[in-house]
Amino acid sequence: MRAVTLEGLGAVAAITTNLVEEARRKHRTYPTATAALGRTLTAGVLMGSLLQPPQKLTIQILCSGPLEEIVVEADAGGNVRGFVRRPHIHLPIRSGKLDVARAVKEGVLCVVKDLGLKEPYTGCVPLVSGEIAKDITHYLAVSEQQPSATALGVMIDKDNSVKVAGGFLIQPVAGVSEEVIGEIEENLKNLPSCSQLLLEEKTPEGMLQKVLKGFTLDINQIKNIQFKCRCSKEKCREALIALGIKEIEDMLSKKREVEMWCNFCNEEYVFSLLELGGILTEVKRRKGLHKIH
Ligand SMILES: [Zn+2]
Repeated sequence: MRAVTLEGLGAVAAITTNLVEEARRKHRTYPTATAALGRTLTAGVLMGSLLQPPQKLTIQILCSGPLEEIVVEADAGGNVRGFVRRPHIHLPIRSGKLDVARAVKEGVLCVVKDLGLKEPYTGCVPLVSGEIAKDITHYLAVSEQQPSATALGVMIDKDNSVKVAGGFLIQPVAGVSEEVIGEIEENLKNLPSCSQLLLEEKTPEGMLQKVLKGFTLDINQIKNIQFKCRCSKEKCREALIALGIKEIEDMLSKKREVEMWCNFCNEEYVFSLLELGGILTEVKRRKGLHKIH
């Protein structure tokens, strides 16, 4: 799982097959949901790789299509996590392809960028296609005034696992000549679909070589990418503590352990009655401390 950045032209490519397969297994997604989540995760990897650590970004898609919501978080270090609100969605194949556009129709795409400033940068655009790649291109053009070419692909195998996933993002930097842009556009026109390109090219470097045929590649950064969640039992414990005395007492009165899930990775955290008792003591202790102040 690697992402390659080509800074001179603002070009980045990623093979995300393992990452998307891990997301599929964690969330038990059906093929159409796998493709939509996989494309958004890949977009997160590509856009995240253009940030500087410790910057990070969130892509959120809200739609009236059956998937309802997709959220992806990515950082500059190649760490990405995400979920789809309705993982068990699969729509009939259309023209030999997974029908992501119908699963993600009519809605908005928002990107929140935490660039280390006081306020995060937020931009929202209406969905223009639901195919994700076109929507990302539209977002970059409208919200960031950045022309780009984005391609995202996820191909599903017969056993519903991820066969290939990945994509690329090309952003002409200021000062690039019309001639160069014309040449890249010509290359893009002659490319196969992104999924087909992923079948043919097994590395991000190989993908960029095809996309930027005729140019000399000066690759300046290669990153490992991974599905990585930031959740932990300790964070869940803090969330329970924040609920307050009454809620914890209510939970204890039911005499059942409490289960919590992480949206992003579907990890389950279980708190026994004994642990809940400890949490109640902690809430009371903190409240007591608060009073003294
Ligand atoms: Zn998690």
